[in-house]
Amino acid sequence: MPAPLLLTPGPLTTTRTVKEAMLRDYGSRDGEFIAINTRMRARLAELVDAAGTHVAVPVQGSGTFAVEAMIGTLVPRTGRLLVLVNGAYGTRMVRIAEVAGRSVTSIETAENVPVSPAALDAALAADPDVTHVAVVQCETTAGLLNPVDEVARVTARHGRRLLIDAMSSFGALPLSRAAVPFEAVAASSNKCLQGAPGFGFVIVDRDALAAAAGNAHALTLDLHDQWRGFETNAQWRFTPPTHVIAAFGQALAEHEAEGGVEGRGRRYAANCRVLVDGMRALGFETLLPDAVQAPIIVTFRMPADPAFAFDRFYDGLRDRGFVIYPGKLTVADSFRMGCIGDLGPAHMSAALDAVKATLSAMGVASGRP
Ligand SMILES: *Cc1c(COP(=O)(O)O)cnc(C)c1O
Repeated sequence: MPAPLLLTPGPLTTTRTVKEAMLRDYGSRDGEFIAINTRMRARLAELVDAAGTHVAVPVQGSGTFAVEAMIGTLVPRTGRLLVLVNGAYGTRMVRIAEVAGRSVTSIETAENVPVSPAALDAALAADPDVTHVAVVQCETTAGLLNPVDEVARVTARHGRRLLIDAMSSFGALPLSRAAVPFEAVAASSNKCLQGAPGFGFVIVDRDALAAAAGNAHALTLDLHDQWRGFETNAQWRFTPPTHVIAAFGQALAEHEAEGGVEGRGRRYAANCRVLVDGMRALGFETLLPDAVQAPIIVTFRMPADPAFAFDRFYDGLRDRGFVIYPGKLTVADSFRMGCIGDLGPAHMSAALDAVKATLSAMGVASGRP
């Protein structure tokens, strides 16, 4: 039985060639390995049109480590962070700032409502102490697309700096420094860029990073120090996840061959269309209206049929070769299905067949909530 396909927001299904790139052991000072790192750092800045102004600094760990490094390094100890929260990842940034001992405040909207640029405008006018604003581009909690361009314009108009968690959208949804002025953007190896999990990265304004020496609250999460290391000898300060980086070099080449952000985004959008149309035909309802649904992960309301049990549904899909994700919402009982990874519309159709077969085995007539 082949490994099941992951309809999850990461780790996700990777290509065979990405996995094969991990079959070689590199020494951390190996010239070829260093070249992979140098190319990777340049390419990541290019992907957000920031090659001239920003530098990409990778950091060991999962995506949250990169977000924590971004906040801890860039928000000064005397600064104040305002987080726009509409899900678990916004809430996590508030927590990160608290743990780092930074002054923090937030504006919350429900998990199915985009963050509000107008509320941000009013809050910044009322609170001159706020130095930085943080926002999540695609809030993976519900799969919602936030209006980062308007948030960036409001933040810039007030002369504050913007930090973006683009973890689940980087490489698939457009994000350009030209349209969305940001101080830093954080993402990771294993979401839309389709690498293996193991490190995150932050693309940071070079001047802001240069000014952030000694600011970080943790040695391992000090982006300034990590950057100085790369600038000095092109190497990581501490043991790099060599296999994961080799896989990521391959993943970036495959991303470029697919047509970069546009090509990848087009495939994910096609996946999302097939999934949403097919699930609606089975009676399921999406939590979000199409206008704010990002083509990354879709939240479905739990069916009302008493014969439906999520654990049996999950197991039935797993037995048929697909792994889905439980909901993470407080506003509604739900489950989620991802559209990202090495999957195409034909895989999504096959997943819909598995949903149909599982519902029928459970004796559920409709997915209607
Ligand atoms: C996945 C994700 C993260 C990071 O999660 P990790 O489990 O640490 O990799 C952060 N923000 C968003 C929006 C995410 O989707």
